[in-house]
Amino acid sequence: MATVASEAPTLDAARGRLRELFGFDDFRGVQPQVIERVLAGQSTLAVMPTGAGKSLTYQLPATMLPGTCVVVSPLIALMHDQLRSARANGIAAATLTSADADWRETLDAFRAGQLDLLYVAPERASQPSFRELLSAARVSMFAIDEAHCVSEWGHDFRPDYRLLRPLMDAFPGVARLALTATADAHTRADILVQLGIPEDGLIVAGFDRSNIRYAIRHRDNPVRQVADLMRAEPGPGIVYAPTRAKVEKLAEQLAAASGREVRPYHAGLEPETRAANQAAFVASEDMVIVATIAFGMGIDKPDVRFVAHAGIPKSIEAFYQETGRAGRDGDAAQTLMLWGAGDFAQARQRLTEVPEDRRASERARLDALAGLVETAGCRRAVLLRHFGEDPPASCGNCDNCLEAPGVTDVTEIAQKLLSAAYRTGQSFGFGHLQKVLTGVPDDRIAQRGHDHLSVFGIVGTEDARLLQPVARALQARGSLVATEHGGLQLGGDAKAILKGEQSVEIVVPPPSARSRRRRGGEANPIGDPLFEALREVRRELARTAGLPPYVIFHDATLREMAAMKPQTLSELAEIGGVGARKLEAYGQDFVNAIRAHE
Ligand code: ADP
Ligand code: ZN
Repeated sequence: MATVASEAPTLDAARGRLRELFGFDDFRGVQPQVIERVLAGQSTLAVMPTGAGKSLTYQLPATMLPGTCVVVSPLIALMHDQLRSARANGIAAATLTSADADWRETLDAFRAGQLDLLYVAPERASQPSFRELLSAARVSMFAIDEAHCVSEWGHDFRPDYRLLRPLMDAFPGVARLALTATADAHTRADILVQLGIPEDGLIVAGFDRSNIRYAIRHRDNPVRQVADLMRAEPGPGIVYAPTRAKVEKLAEQLAAASGREVRPYHAGLEPETRAANQAAFVASEDMVIVATIAFGMGIDKPDVRFVAHAGIPKSIEAFYQETGRAGRDGDAAQTLMLWGAGDFAQARQRLTEVPEDRRASERARLDALAGLVETAGCRRAVLLRHFGEDPPASCGNCDNCLEAPGVTDVTEIAQKLLSAAYRTGQSFGFGHLQKVLTGVPDDRIAQRGHDHLSVFGIVGTEDARLLQPVARALQARGSLVATEHGGLQLGGDAKAILKGEQSVEIVVPPPSARSRRRRGGEANPIGDPLFEALREVRRELARTAGLPPYVIFHDATLREMAAMKPQTLSELAEIGGVGARKLEAYGQDFVNAIRAHE
């Protein structure tokens, strides 16, 4: 039986291309479902977490379907990042942006059908001239990156995304693939409508980033706490701090404490310095950047080994997004959030400035975050449940799963503390309440007659050390609220606690961190002579090509080379991540380095 010439390429054929172009053995997660639909010309919305391999789901079909895949992407930096990776794998790709001098060649190549991928910003894509351009060429598919930008429900609405549908409607036979890492149910439904994708075209991968380890600790010595993490993770890392001043100071202190290269990043730096620090970080294999949350958007560095928060993030969503910048390459990565009672007190204070109609939902966000911080159970389970999933009770890769913290019932101490706050008129800070409760008289206490209150001296020495953590926990959950003048007021469920209807527990972290098995790939054998030699080859190739080292090969690829010691190009081709193009361009240099090492 004769096969029809226009028959769609199969998933098996795509798997062959995957090996040839990217050097990967198989698809991951929902990639095959997405690619199968795209190859069959069916429009699709893929919701996949960071690092799940979204770009491959259009880059690969783009090389198999006749014509050019038009990719809409919101940031020039992101486009250029994608361009570098695509070209390094031998895919014919170009960007059409105001920053590109070679637009004439790009247009010619596009019209001549020589491009697999053409990246454009939504502002350009929505112009009539672009529609004309597309009519003069062959479009294989549309890929819409960061598709949540099309929805007002998403966190990053971009009005120009709304003009994409009329453009795509003008090319009715062409499949659309919308991609996003963050979209709740509401936003997903909206994206489908706004981009004209059928409901059965929705493919959602789980939110879980199993290679990321979560740890949340009280902030008692942030420099030492982050420096410890830096010792455990010699690779690149991001430390988020709340203000410019704190960024500057922490960067200096961490550099001094760790001896590693640490640079600051915030909106107050000279634009050249900021750009230079960002570029140096992207290219580096071991730099740490201390930044405000302005840093991160548009950075696609796959080998970030840790993300630390020196203060609480805005919400669970923000926490997930910011920590999500770690471990995109699938190798093990760590996160550490450091929190203080003051963080929550300030955040609750700010609620009073939020417009009335949004206050309840903002408070709920903060309560959810406090729940994540306070839990004695699995952090990942709390996170995933927040996103509507039904995860197992324990993940084995968060601080609480690795070492169960002690849980202490402190309801009685909490009642005493709340009662002291109430009886002293809800206008004194923790220090004063502590003195009252432990019976340490001073002038202020005498003046106000607080030494005659029934709560004076009712907390014994044994319980006194728990007062601070109890105050912290009560503030985090909103049962104690700091006023503008620093006094502590009752709030939230304080009355229920006082009446004994609500109990209070605190989590006591285990004293030491034992050696722990990692998830998602081994650690880099830093110091291993062959691995170091291979890194040097990669560095040299990266310098010559003007590319970040990870575009040449990922760490996992170098690790496999160091372990397998391929002696020939054909042996090297078996290593994960070595596609045909990279084999040809870089293979000999690595084989030489391995041979020289025998
Ligand atoms: P996302 O855009 O979803 O955050 P990327 O497209 O940047 O993710 O891919 C993340 C990393 O995973 C990239 O380094 C990519 O090379 C790698 N990757 C993607 N698909 C596979 C696969 N099937 N096998 C192995 N690695 C993959
Ligand atoms: Zn866990």
